[in-house]
Amino acid sequence: MTGHDAGSLRAEIVRVAQAMDRAGFCPTKSGNVSARTDEGLLITPSGLPYAATTPADIVAIDLDGAPLAEGGLRPSSEWPFHTAIYRARPEIRAIVHTHSPKATALACARRPIPAFHYMVAYCGGRDVRVADYATFGSADLAGNAVRALEGRKAVLLANHGVIALGASLEGALAIAGEVENLAGQYLALLAAGLEPVVLDDEEMDRVAAKFAGYGKVG
Ligand code: 13P
Ligand code: ZN
Repeated sequence: MTGHDAGSLRAEIVRVAQAMDRAGFCPTKSGNVSARTDEGLLITPSGLPYAATTPADIVAIDLDGAPLAEGGLRPSSEWPFHTAIYRARPEIRAIVHTHSPKATALACARRPIPAFHYMVAYCGGRDVRVADYATFGSADLAGNAVRALEGRKAVLLANHGVIALGASLEGALAIAGEVENLAGQYLALLAAGLEPVVLDDEEMDRVAAKFAGYGKVG
């Protein structure tokens, strides 16, 4: 990743993975985190509790999933969707996958998040779609995720969880947090029996254009 040596990128992956865990986004050690490198990607190992994960445990693989070093831990079981997303989306440099509770509840109802709040545009578009169900770790899940992520930085995985994308690890983590926040608001509306007022496409395009320049000097 630009501006990092491999060591600091490994440490940043551990920091982001532990932050998503502390936020309660990874029940029963679910979820995983990766970042693009010149050779492929660095990704959290499969099944290792985040609190016990060190930078040396992070696994280097190429964009086909082949290990780049001998003798390391096994990469996340979700390496197929991490590699497929990096192959399909050159602008994406980091991926955070969670089972955050509220977004996962919507994913289990296969209910996309409509533009009930302007912050939906922060997740890259006019809605957060639901990718079709496929078994975790499968090539089918990777294909379904890439398709549903077209033009988006976040997707709900049916009966599973969330994938959030970013140009940086912090950016991907922020998207994962916003998806959970939006899911909570949307669930509250549904639970109250209220009908959300959905913003139209023109307004969501306007918000997206404002986000493109938001927070940037000049
Ligand atoms: P890993 O521990 O293999 O990354 O799997 C966690 C997960 O969330 C699978 O979808
Ligand atoms: Zn998962």
